[in-house]
Amino acid sequence: MDESLTQEDINDLREKAAKHVWLPYTPVGQHGDTNVMQIFVEADGIRVTDVEGKSYIDAFSGLMYKNVGHGRQEIVDAVHEQLQKMSSVPMFYDGTIPSILLAAKLAEITPGDLSRVHYVSGGSEANEVAIKVAKQYHRLSGSPDRYKVIARQGEYHGFTHMTMALGKSGGFYSVFEPLTPGVRHIPQPYCYRCPLALSYPDCGVACAKSLESTIENEGPHTVAAFLTASISQQTPVAVPPAEYWPMIRSICDRYGVLLIDDEVVCGFGRTGKWFGIENWDVVPDIMAMAKGITSGYQPLGAVIASEKISETFEKSEDVLRNVTTYGGMPGSCAAGLANLTIFEEEGLIEKSASMGKYISDRLQPLNQHPMVGDIRGMGMFWGIEMVKDKETKEPINARKDVATLTGKLTDLGLITRADNGTIRFMPPLVTTEEEVDEAVGIVEEAISHLETELL
Ligand code: PLP
Repeated sequence: MDESLTQEDINDLREKAAKHVWLPYTPVGQHGDTNVMQIFVEADGIRVTDVEGKSYIDAFSGLMYKNVGHGRQEIVDAVHEQLQKMSSVPMFYDGTIPSILLAAKLAEITPGDLSRVHYVSGGSEANEVAIKVAKQYHRLSGSPDRYKVIARQGEYHGFTHMTMALGKSGGFYSVFEPLTPGVRHIPQPYCYRCPLALSYPDCGVACAKSLESTIENEGPHTVAAFLTASISQQTPVAVPPAEYWPMIRSICDRYGVLLIDDEVVCGFGRTGKWFGIENWDVVPDIMAMAKGITSGYQPLGAVIASEKISETFEKSEDVLRNVTTYGGMPGSCAAGLANLTIFEEEGLIEKSASMGKYISDRLQPLNQHPMVGDIRGMGMFWGIEMVKDKETKEPINARKDVATLTGKLTDLGLITRADNGTIRFMPPLVTTEEEVDEAVGIVEEAISHLETELL
């Protein structure tokens, strides 16, 4: 228990939470409930501690952003120092030392000729702005009718109306319809449950080819961009086959459609490369990033565009028609720089790649469990898909069984998500082999528990 708090203080916090806090994705009546709402007070490395003093492994890296782990004093100090010097700038000019240095650093670590950076506050905004850049680019290039965006069904790109429309994750957001128009969808490269009922490699990667048929059907002169994540996290860890990204790149090139890569989750080492799409040696036209850019020590998002796009704006003398109050705040950019220094000093990209192999070796034996359907991932980005029956791939119950699983994981001291029946295993990039062993042991115990309940 937090020494500075009495049981009375904790009860008081829970009462206040029950009355005033409005959590995402949580029934209001359950706020403050000990079984639903944990109150966290401390974090270090890969562990977080709640107000009752219980420690947990953070196997979801916060919300897939705590890449350098918790409690990094270097980042805290860099933010502190920057805020003492200057916490914000007049008007919306991002001319601060950290914002300039971070833009140059992002240009250095991103692939190809991505080089022009615009800051926002997070991932949803980064995707919104990436689309604005694409539409404005086409207008400036003499293609004013290109306004449609093609995305992948069952993806998450953010909370705004446009990004909700891009995701179209089931009917969850149907209460907000009509969402932003002009979005079309193609299927995921989800080979374990192919949405086209085909099998790789005989399918000829039909999911990638569906981009071409969709562009043809819509009329290429109306399509501005294809936007998706290098690897989906919402259709859990659906790693595309080797041919997928090169095919997507060449289809986009053939039709003059810009390729926007949402690296909000897969970026900053999550998949064993700086950015997920580099696993396929493909360079997008625009990249959206957030989360791991500061490892969540400060809110920040960014869009980085290619030279071709930057030059088009330069020649036209038009301005990027976007501004946000908190985009590129000096403290956030200082956090970003200190965060990326840790990446380089501790070799976190290489570590993520090699630890990915270790995690794979440790997770694969779980395949012997009757309810483990599929294990997939790379780097520090893994999913264990649970099924009722290995042969039929019948999914587990999305509410009851998932609640049993996550309840057991939490009891055993590991926090992660298992929505869609897939246990996410995405700890910070600094996780050691011993910590991986401990976490995998907990995951296996929770799987055994579910099997005892159901089989
Ligand atoms: N893109 C992806 C792939 C995400 O997973 C998320 C959030 O989880 C976002 C965008 C939205 O980012 P933010 O919550 O920072 O707005």
